[in-house]
Amino acid sequence: MITVYIALGTNVGDREANLLQALQLLPESGVHLGRVSSIYETEPVDYLDQEWFLNAVLEAETELDALDLLAALRLIEARMGSKKAFAKGPRKIDLDILLYGNETIDTPELQVPHPRMLERKFVLVPLAEVAPNLRHPSWNSGVARLLAATPDHSAVKKLHDAPSI
Ligand code: ADP
Ligand code: MG
Repeated sequence: MITVYIALGTNVGDREANLLQALQLLPESGVHLGRVSSIYETEPVDYLDQEWFLNAVLEAETELDALDLLAALRLIEARMGSKKAFAKGPRKIDLDILLYGNETIDTPELQVPHPRMLERKFVLVPLAEVAPNLRHPSWNSGVARLLAATPDHSAVKKLHDAPSI
């Protein structure tokens, strides 16, 4: 079993229902949920002209190798009917692999740690909640300190505690 961290995001339709549906579909895809962060409402950062997101991060255990995990996440996105008009644009559900154990992966399809995660408060705030001391070998400090150091000042507001599943 490998411990992985996955980021969830949604800004189309019933955002809370979308998060819950994704959390329900993950275990049957071989992703066994551990700690789930609170749900946060966050301001869009890359492409600004879109609705605010709900974001969360989870810790999970899986036997899937990294590319199979990516395929499983894409399948859930597809099953939920999530289509994005363009990258970083609005979507019903977005599932990103933040960390896959201590591995570093750099292929055209998959980069881990997720290349933009350290610049995104909407990732670091929920990640620091579930694993404040987490530290990938390529980082110079743990998540909580990386969050304190991030230049991203976009709004990340806690909406409520972790959903019970
Ligand atoms: P974004 O999440 O940046 O808005 P998309 O969800 O549209 O972008 O993803 C585009 C592609 O990013 C995916 O098809 C996938 O192959 C690639 N990708 C690279 N690294 C990762 C990762 N760590 N987690 C999820 N997708 C990744
Ligand atoms: Mg994505």
